[in-house]
Amino acid sequence: MTEYPRVLVDLDKIRENVQFLSKKCKESQIDVVGITKVFSGSIEVARVLVEGGVKYLGDSRVENLKKYENLDVPKIMIRLPMRSQIKEVIKHVDISLNSEISTIALLNEEAEKQYRVHRIILMIELGDLREGILPEDIENYMDQINSMKNIKLEGIGVNLTCYGGIIPSFDNLGQLEKISDLIEEKYNLKLNIISGGNSSSLDLLWNNNMPKKINNLRLGESLIFGRETAYGKNLEGCFYDSVKLEVEIIELKEKQSYPIGKIGLNAFGEKPEFIDRGKRKRAILAIGKQDVDQSNLEVIDEKLIILGASSDHLVLDITDSEKEYKVGDIVEFKLDYGSLLQLTTSPYVKKVFN
Ligand SMILES: *Cc1c(COP(=O)(O)O)cnc(C)c1O
Repeated sequence: MTEYPRVLVDLDKIRENVQFLSKKCKESQIDVVGITKVFSGSIEVARVLVEGGVKYLGDSRVENLKKYENLDVPKIMIRLPMRSQIKEVIKHVDISLNSEISTIALLNEEAEKQYRVHRIILMIELGDLREGILPEDIENYMDQINSMKNIKLEGIGVNLTCYGGIIPSFDNLGQLEKISDLIEEKYNLKLNIISGGNSSSLDLLWNNNMPKKINNLRLGESLIFGRETAYGKNLEGCFYDSVKLEVEIIELKEKQSYPIGKIGLNAFGEKPEFIDRGKRKRAILAIGKQDVDQSNLEVIDEKLIILGASSDHLVLDITDSEKEYKVGDIVEFKLDYGSLLQLTTSPYVKKVFN
């Protein structure tokens, strides 16, 4: 018996997206870090990213990177390490993104204990206001990093369009390039990685506007959804539908569209609002807020309307659909980054790869 709800993942489509985007990046001497965080560290997806040509695998959680031990590419931890996880980071991660000197010092100590050299990418704050050191602190950081025997500065990087929504530009990535020149000249070293951001940097590449020294991008969303994320444009030549969700109908009845009785707060402490459209055909589906925020879902049958959800129930208005739905039928949904992230994290949602 097939189990629902389930996310269907078309690995061939993802593989083709990865091949296409890796090739496009390679033409500009850019290596791709394949980011797997939206799949909660799925080995199936990680393997396909490597087959498709990514040079590194990246994830925000050390628990996920640990699973990729047998995949023969360097593993990059893209969230700053926690002090409480330093041991695991040194053991399972080849390169980590960093912006706190006290954490880097702990990584150095632990790397010495484990007879390893740990590589880091120093993150630079260029306006988005998430992680990164301020440009004026670089020399101070560099002096200290240079004195750490078990830390190797592999490169520098920037993250944009994540917190502040700042769009990558020739200007701000040009600043990263200038900073790399400054470090290489002043400290007489070569930075292997100049990492110019995530899927939001692809538009620059498409417009041939990427500063020359940027040689690395960390791509997640674009590999799965075939979309750049600065403007949300689909990238021509990619698949946009590599994943979908299937959910089962558990109740189907004609009911009033306006609740009957005095309206108070719903299960989430919000005062809900309703439009009275008379009697409508409604379906209850077996998925809820515990698995996904319904505002990130889109029904593939465009005649179906998502009315709302509670912890374990999703309510749809199905009156306008041409299809005669029955209890036990399956409704399909398109996913976006947010819904896929939540669904792959829910232990109640099956993941099927084909
Ligand atoms: C999530 C993340 C990425 C990947 O972003 P996409 O938009 O999925 O390409 C890259 N770098 C860092 C630091 C991230 O947290």
